[in-house]
Amino acid sequence: MCGIVGYIGNKQAVEVLTDGLAKLEYRGYDSAGVAILNDNDIEVRKFKGRLSVLSQDLERNNIHGNVGIGHTRWATHGEPSDINSHPHWNQSCSIAIVHNGIIENYMDIKEDLLQKGYKFTSDTDTEVVCHLLNEYYEGDLVGAVKKTVSKLEGAYALSVMSRDNPDELVAVRMTSPLIIGIGEEENFIASDIPAILKYTKNVYILNDGEMALVKKDGIELMTVNGTPISKEVFTVDWDVEAAEKGGYDHFMIKEIHEQPKAIKETLSPRLKKDKTIKLDDINLTKENIENFNKVYIVACGTAYHAGLLGKVLIEKFVKIPVIVDIASEFRYGNPFIDDKTLIIVVSQSGETIDTFEALRLGKRKGARIMAVTNVVGSSIAREAHDVLYTWAGPEIAVASTKAYTTQMASLALIALDMAVKTDAISQPEYNKAIEEIEQLSSKVAEILEDLDLVKDLALDIYQAEDVFFIGRGVDYDVAREGSLKLKEISYIHSEAIQAGELKHGTLALIEKDTPVIALATQDRLYDKMLSNIKEVKARRAYVIAIAKKGNKEIEKSADKVIYIPDVMDELSPILSVIPLQLLSYYVAKERDCDIDKPRNLAKSVTVE
Ligand code: GLU
Repeated sequence: MCGIVGYIGNKQAVEVLTDGLAKLEYRGYDSAGVAILNDNDIEVRKFKGRLSVLSQDLERNNIHGNVGIGHTRWATHGEPSDINSHPHWNQSCSIAIVHNGIIENYMDIKEDLLQKGYKFTSDTDTEVVCHLLNEYYEGDLVGAVKKTVSKLEGAYALSVMSRDNPDELVAVRMTSPLIIGIGEEENFIASDIPAILKYTKNVYILNDGEMALVKKDGIELMTVNGTPISKEVFTVDWDVEAAEKGGYDHFMIKEIHEQPKAIKETLSPRLKKDKTIKLDDINLTKENIENFNKVYIVACGTAYHAGLLGKVLIEKFVKIPVIVDIASEFRYGNPFIDDKTLIIVVSQSGETIDTFEALRLGKRKGARIMAVTNVVGSSIAREAHDVLYTWAGPEIAVASTKAYTTQMASLALIALDMAVKTDAISQPEYNKAIEEIEQLSSKVAEILEDLDLVKDLALDIYQAEDVFFIGRGVDYDVAREGSLKLKEISYIHSEAIQAGELKHGTLALIEKDTPVIALATQDRLYDKMLSNIKEVKARRAYVIAIAKKGNKEIEKSADKVIYIPDVMDELSPILSVIPLQLLSYYVAKERDCDIDKPRNLAKSVTVE
């Protein structure tokens, strides 16, 4: 859950590393550090806090050198502190490392090392790796890394440098993501592509159990046992600007505005002129689908909320029962998995560890695994049998927006594809759904055209202590996402509740001026929602409603109404979430919150 960057070449390593770390800060940001090879010594600088703390120190007193490793940390073992920050080193400071992930057996290793006389300075699991490297080092850095890795258990990525091997960096991957950037007379190591995109578009994506010896003029790829391997170069087809803010104040608002394009990119290439659907990496046949007696959709956070819509769509169109589960619960429950089970895992990064482990559990038990993810070549994408990429482009803000809408759009395609293959849907129903899907992107653009009302509403509620979201059916699923968005970036306590459940408890919390966001976009539930709005109005709540254009009657009950274009009920979440994302954003902005990097949260959750 951190960022790793490594550099070897002719440039000043500090510049490349801090530049790269800035692009990776979303992965974790409680501390940052670099280690640079400077006149045959490794010099380390590392500080608790944002990358700016490190950068300011380096501005005052730079480190010169052309080889180095850098890290932004999201602490798992030991509190965020200067000492616990990475890089870590062996006692003679001849070897330095940065580490992403967790060494699960570090306690046992530490005991052994303590008995051998090693002294520990930090509370991290990482430090055992430095001392093990020291133990095994006999002049050959790759050899020492191989032996060290054979002792480690857990999910991790490492980048290693040695004073006595000044022309080498070693990178190793065991579950946590790592790529090698290929330059001319220079090469790079990074947790993710944006970190090095300024310098190269050509990368090797390391798989689990693979390592790389990275030199200025060459890269040797091998397994952790030392068997040489060859790999195709992956050429990135998006550019640096795509990973930067492009004139917006925050990544989040940029990504909200990118949704029409992102949805189009998810849908258009898969919708053919003759109205058929072609899902590139999904190879399910009619027989496969007819063999399934249930579908699990497994995910975390916002991706889980997308999964809730997936259930509605698959049950409606394919007519197979669907269970949606939180990945961290699924793994430790007793799910019914067999070879008649389809598991759809949803993860923006494709690295979410709980989702990844749920995938592995499903695979072990014989299920067919389908992944919906945004990151090409991610762990989840590589291990699944079938993959649908959301193609939303890099999502940098911690609070997910375009990943959510494109995940829902992807699940709609999957549901319709399965339904067509099994003749579970009538032709008119299919045609209608496709027609609706084709209009989604322009309808989202229409909502984004006028932001005045939502900005005013943010002013009305930004000082609230509690905000409630209510809805029925898929409106309730969106309510959950709206509530999550608000709490994660504005730190206002918020709850989503099925509107019909209000009177079973939550209504007790509604008092004068309590903001209630009421979603009323479902045609068949509209009247029921009007009654629920009246219920909270009777307690003098301040009601902001979301409704479809034309449903004017709601203005008699709600204080304010945000209208979305007319849309098929089952696809409405892709539209109705947009005002909720915007409302959260403007509320958080009014409260002066760190919108792209909310406290205690990180983008890609690669630790349990
Ligand atoms: N487990 C290591 C630590 O707590 C690395 C955490 C990370 O991935 O940033 O320092």
